[in-house]
Amino acid sequence: MLNKVLSTVMAVIMIFSVNTGSAVVNEELPNYIPVSDSEAESREADVIQNPTVEKVVPAEKEEENEEESKRTIDPDKPMIALTFDDGPSKYTPEILDTLKNNNSSATFFVLGQEADKYKDTVKLIIEEGSEVGNHTYNHKDLTKLSDEEISNQILSTEGSIYDSSGYVSSLVRPPYGASNATLNKKISRPIIKWSVDTRDWQSRDAQKVTIHVLNTVKDGDIVLMHDIYKSTADASKIFIPKLVEMGYQLVTISELAEYRGLPLTAGQQYYNMPK
Ligand code: ZN
Repeated sequence: MLNKVLSTVMAVIMIFSVNTGSAVVNEELPNYIPVSDSEAESREADVIQNPTVEKVVPAEKEEENEEESKRTIDPDKPMIALTFDDGPSKYTPEILDTLKNNNSSATFFVLGQEADKYKDTVKLIIEEGSEVGNHTYNHKDLTKLSDEEISNQILSTEGSIYDSSGYVSSLVRPPYGASNATLNKKISRPIIKWSVDTRDWQSRDAQKVTIHVLNTVKDGDIVLMHDIYKSTADASKIFIPKLVEMGYQLVTISELAEYRGLPLTAGQQYYNMPK
């Protein structure tokens, strides 16, 4: 029986991995996605017929899609994953513009309630090659919630992201970074924390944020910021081109994991991904 349940869940997870482009390995049992056996089997058949993980195609082979072919990642060069939490907001498109102008990507850990308000922005994040992660529906401290409330926070936000963009999000960042091994297992998604904390919410000062980023980052870092402040959008206009000039490739969490050969595993947490 347990095997049956496991295979059902794995089938669902495989489906969930289809659009993310990330190599997600799920070891834990997410116990709150009810799917009937027959449905799971038909989904499983679907997955087998349609191998899912998209590979990065070298630029010259992707002539029909110039937009994507412009960006190639050199696995031997340093990389950083910028992350922006608590949005989307009216400032998110500015940050996306800056990323685009610098041939870069980032990961946006959105709140479900904001994703519902800024559906077009969620879609834009995906269209422009960045990544969307799950920061719960309304920024509750998950360590203080019941199992049912935790699953509602995660699943409703995945629903909001999917509704606006068709994107199946697989990464979770718990609000305040508050989680522990037990909670991570309950969330049953890769848990993304950070190695550089800009404290942009505290300073609200573009110059301070810029200096913090430029003085602190190193290869493999995951940088925490918030796309709900004008100061952070302004800072991005300065430090993003500067980081690129310094030789850093600005990539999504999934890209960083992929190029570092690190499987993103459900229930595991990640602070950075150095070589
Ligand atoms: Zn937050």
